[in-house]
Order: sequence, then C-alpha cells, then structure tokens
Amino acid sequence: MNSKIKRLLRKNIFELSPYSSAREEYVGKEGIFLDANENPYGIYNRYPDPYQNQLKQKLAEIKKCKSNQIFIGNGSDEVIDLAFRIFCEPYQDTALTFAPTYGMYQVSADINAVELIQIPLNKNFQIDRKTVENCLKDENLKLIFICSPNNPTGNLLNTDDIEFILQKFSGIVIIDEAYIDFAAQNSFIEKLNIYPNLIVSQTLSKAWGLAGIRLGVAYMNEEILAFYNKVKSPYNISSINQEMTLKYLNQQEEFNSKLNEILFERTKLINELNHLNLVKKVYPTDANFILMEVKNADELYKKLIEKQIIIRNRNSVIPKCLRITVGTPEENQKLITELKVIDNG
Ligand SMILES: *Cc1c(COP(=O)(O)O)cnc(C)c1O
Repeated sequence: MNSKIKRLLRKNIFELSPYSSAREEYVGKEGIFLDANENPYGIYNRYPDPYQNQLKQKLAEIKKCKSNQIFIGNGSDEVIDLAFRIFCEPYQDTALTFAPTYGMYQVSADINAVELIQIPLNKNFQIDRKTVENCLKDENLKLIFICSPNNPTGNLLNTDDIEFILQKFSGIVIIDEAYIDFAAQNSFIEKLNIYPNLIVSQTLSKAWGLAGIRLGVAYMNEEILAFYNKVKSPYNISSINQEMTLKYLNQQEEFNSKLNEILFERTKLINELNHLNLVKKVYPTDANFILMEVKNADELYKKLIEKQIIIRNRNSVIPKCLRITVGTPEENQKLITELKVIDNG
C-alpha cells in the first residue's frame, strides 16, 4: 500500500476487519440460496449487490474511468461522512474548506468531532493561495473540501489553485462536483491518475434529476476505495435504487435535453434579472442556480413567499444575497413576472 495513504488513516480503520456479508462470501448468481436468512418468497426478498457492480460499470462508461475507481453512497452525505470517519481522529485531526460553501461539511465535521477550518474565499469567491499554503503543513490536517462549482456562489474555483493544493498537500483533497454537469469545464475525474490523494464527489441529485433516489458517486483511487468499502454499511444502496438509477442512466438523450433546457433558461433568467432595479448584482454561475445581490434580501424573500415562490435566502451567509434555482420555463416566467411587479411597486 502507498505508505502516504496509510499514514493518513485512523488507526482503528487501518486495523479494521470488515463485516463479511453472505453476498461477499458467495458471489455466483445460480443456486439454491440458503445462506443469508432471506425469505424465499417475494420480489425484493434478496439482499442487493453490496458493491453495485452493474451500476458502476455504467457510470465508468459514462465518466470514462475504471469501475474500480467508483464508490456509491446514499447521497453525497455518505461520501462526506465516510471521509471523516476514515481519516479524522475525533478531537485531534482537522479538516479545511473555503467559505462561504456547502453547509454539510461543517455539520459532518461537528458530528464526527473534527474541527473544520474555514478559510474565506476572496472577493471574487476564489481561493487565496497564501492563506491556504500556511495551513497545509499542519500534520493534523487530513481533509480539504473544495466545492467547485461552489454552492451558494455558483462559480467554478480556478483549476490552477486546486492543482496547487493537490500538489502541496499530502492529505486527502475532496472536490465536490455536485454541479459539474452544468459547468463549462471538465471534471477532475480525468486527473485521478495524477493525484493519488484526490476524491471527486458527484451526485445524481442535480443534473440527473434524481434527488429523491439518494445516490452520491465518488471517484477515487483503488487504495482509498478499499477503505470506503470496508467502512460503509454492507448493503448501503437498495435494489430499488440500483435498478431505478440504472434505468435513468441509460436515458442519456433525455439527460442531455433536460440539461440544455436548464442551461438555456439560466441564460434567460440572468438577462431578465440584470434588467431589474432591485437587483444590484448577478454573480457569474456555472451551476443550475444564480446568486444575486439585492437591495433588501429579507424583504424580497418574504414578498416572494407570499406569492408562493420559494427561493433561498443567503443573507446570513453573504450579505444581501439570494439564491435562485433554475426551474421550468413556466416557473421562471412566474418568478420574473412577480419580480417585475415588486420592482415597479
Ligand atoms: C446538492 C449538493 C450535493 C448533493 O448532495 P446529495 O446528498 O447527493 O443529494 C452535494 N454537494 C453540494 C455542494 C450540493 O450543493
């Protein structure tokens, strides 16, 4: 094993003897299965494939990587939580991210009793190399979360800055690419073979439109994957979820047309928002949402709620800012109509 990865692991995880499920000890498909205490009757009576092999083959084909570089979690939340559980000693190790960003890193850090250092992004919502460089030598720093495109700001973080961190830091770098399909840039998946310490986290919740299914996908080197597989619960993705996901992954054309529609609507929305007096600034976006600064965020948020249009109030995170998810053409039109009424009122 790469001694660098070993050094990063928690001792109990390195030494862990994982649970060995019935479906691991005998993997054949044919036979009389009297080994897992399943009920012989029913449609969903059998335990699912613990390693979701069919699904991983399909994902490997779509993402042009190897199926033994893929971990599937019950949403990205599981991918994030497992990173803490595998690498961070509670009350001792630390993790780092760039604020403002996705709230789950902090929640997951808190649950796992790990301190999360938050370095502010600069005024263009980019990484400040000097500040981060000073933190990278800390031996207790095990994880860095980089969300790109970033939520709630919407922008991609500069590739050069991300690679700077990947090269200088010997811990694990998790790039959260939940919104990458909306972005005009390639995924870091293609750099997995260059950086052994890289985990790329994606999800089927956004561009694939499958938030209800709960499926997070992380791409990583085999060595890290081995520990993800040891620590995850044995049957973490249900048969129903595996089947449904596979069905939708085979509808690539549907995916492309929905994606293009959302991107088209995004451009339209940005244009419309830029013409409103109450909008002070529309931030550039590479995601399916738009961050904007307005005169009075709390007031506007409430006025829209009265019209049953619900957007995200980010005033407490970025002053005067609201975040709008791109909806259907009809939904977006309703939003713009209401905003124009308020603008003229
Ligand atoms: C929406 C989102 C996710 C997706 O989480 P799931 O648990 O996979 O639904 C992950 N990361 C970021 C930054 C997000 O905004």
